[in-house]
Amino acid sequence: MMTAYISHKDCELHDMGAGHPECPRRLSAIRDYLMERQLWDVLLHVDAPKIEKIHLYRVHGREYVDGIFSQFPIKQTKTLGDDMVANAHTLNAALRSAGGVCKAVDMVMNGQAANAFCAVRPPGHHAEKNRAMGFCVFSNVAVAAAYAIHQYDLDRVAIVDFDVHHGNGTENILQYDERVLFCSSFQHPYYPHTVPDQNRSNIVHTPMHAGTSSDEFRDWVLQQWMNKLHQFNPQLLLISAGFDAHHSDPLADIYLDDRDYYWLTSELKRLAENCCEGRIVSSLEGGYHLDALARSVYQHIRVLSGL
Ligand SMILES: [Zn+2]
Repeated sequence: MMTAYISHKDCELHDMGAGHPECPRRLSAIRDYLMERQLWDVLLHVDAPKIEKIHLYRVHGREYVDGIFSQFPIKQTKTLGDDMVANAHTLNAALRSAGGVCKAVDMVMNGQAANAFCAVRPPGHHAEKNRAMGFCVFSNVAVAAAYAIHQYDLDRVAIVDFDVHHGNGTENILQYDERVLFCSSFQHPYYPHTVPDQNRSNIVHTPMHAGTSSDEFRDWVLQQWMNKLHQFNPQLLLISAGFDAHHSDPLADIYLDDRDYYWLTSELKRLAENCCEGRIVSSLEGGYHLDALARSVYQHIRVLSGL
């Protein structure tokens, strides 16, 4: 079985404005590099469908979702929330981002793909139940977790979020759902200014000081995440794959490099093979240095695809 690569041109038309780091070029940089390294042609390419509202209502407030819809169509740009600017294509892009991750869940649950990477934007992990923020409109991975639990009657879905920013939106939505284990590493103190909390059995916070090295990060993953994930024994592993903890990234101060994403993906793939027949759905979050992003995603997908 192949690795699915789920995307859509609408995700490249959403644009937050000139010079914004969360830019359309992120997706084309990834595509160009995968082509250059001959990985593009061995992936199963799938268009991300628009999600139906019913699946958004499962995690977002009905008024919030309807309120987002009511602001479109727009001709120019519009602010949807704190650090979230929309253009004419943003609603379709956001619907395809959440829809793409749910499509990926269907494909891995139905045996149509071994695993999947969703090259989508806007990202999702900062969007809360009733709030767009941090470049995010809908909480793509939380929507997909709730979708998987509902659609496939799952009891245990693990989410690993290695973006350099805390996945406050995912946590805001799923924190009281014991069917979900959420492991999140993030620079601290830093946006979105989460206060680390180690008292929740289904949430693992791994705060990282500015300047955190590869070795420190790997130790914490092994000590804080892997045993917990094995014990939880997920039926599906979702990944909020942000690559902004890379040392080249302009938005943060953590010192990971391409090889760390290879290593972490290998650890997670082995876990998924032991627990859930390798079922992994990974979705792009951050990563703002275009070359480092493209190389890191390449390493991530190289492991997923087994090449
Ligand atoms: Zn981030």
